[in-house]
Amino acid sequence: MEQPTSTPDISDIWYQGITQDELFEHLPEETEYNYFQNEQLFIEFKIFKLIQKHLRGEQNTRIMNNYQSKDREQKCDLFMREYDDILSGKSLGVPENKYWPYFILRSLLVEIQQLVCTLSKVCTNETCPIMKAAAQWTFLCASHTKPQQCCAIDYMTHTLDTSITIFNTRVFNPAEANPNKAQQHAAQVARRIYRVFGHVYFNHEQQFKAFENATLLHRRFEAFVKKHNYMEASNLLKAMIGPNEPNYL
Ligand SMILES: [Zn+2]
Ligand SMILES: [Zn+2]
Repeated sequence: MEQPTSTPDISDIWYQGITQDELFEHLPEETEYNYFQNEQLFIEFKIFKLIQKHLRGEQNTRIMNNYQSKDREQKCDLFMREYDDILSGKSLGVPENKYWPYFILRSLLVEIQQLVCTLSKVCTNETCPIMKAAAQWTFLCASHTKPQQCCAIDYMTHTLDTSITIFNTRVFNPAEANPNKAQQHAAQVARRIYRVFGHVYFNHEQQFKAFENATLLHRRFEAFVKKHNYMEASNLLKAMIGPNEPNYL
């Protein structure tokens, strides 16, 4: 299918009843930033195509049980190498933009929301009444005037909502006098939201594995926080798990 030459009004496309995935599916992989004129959408498009190219079909149970395969490792390496280009915005034809890392982080939040959605049946007030990673790490929910104990699913939902609000009101605030502040807010968001991975890994491993297998979301998030020094290596899952880490991490 030919790439459209002029920029369409994307909101028009929504009104015509086409979903974002359908639009992405229809566009060729080489579609450039100029077509979207929107960083968020462009990043989501690049990730969509990357997943399609390297990981499609990985949800398949047979492959899921075959984590050790060389083929899988090669695919993941290739995927991560290409993801590096997205992280830096390099070679993507995106105009110089100091907000680029924040757009990346915000698009990761959207995907974490999707991960949390996969837990609807397994993570409830009854199964997970407190937010914890492994048993020794429990967290109070900071999305309230006074931090309080929310059950895990509420904690994750509240933290995602608060994080998105922080992005809209503080990180992306052009009036912010101190650019370091935006970075601090982004780092804080990254640290808090990372606890979702901790909870899902230690308490809903099957869901974690399936999602990771299909998207490499955790691996991408780690690459992102390492690149920007948003988190200490000792707070990442690999360090928490120790030498017995499974090879899909
Ligand atoms: Zn849970
Ligand atoms: Zn809460």
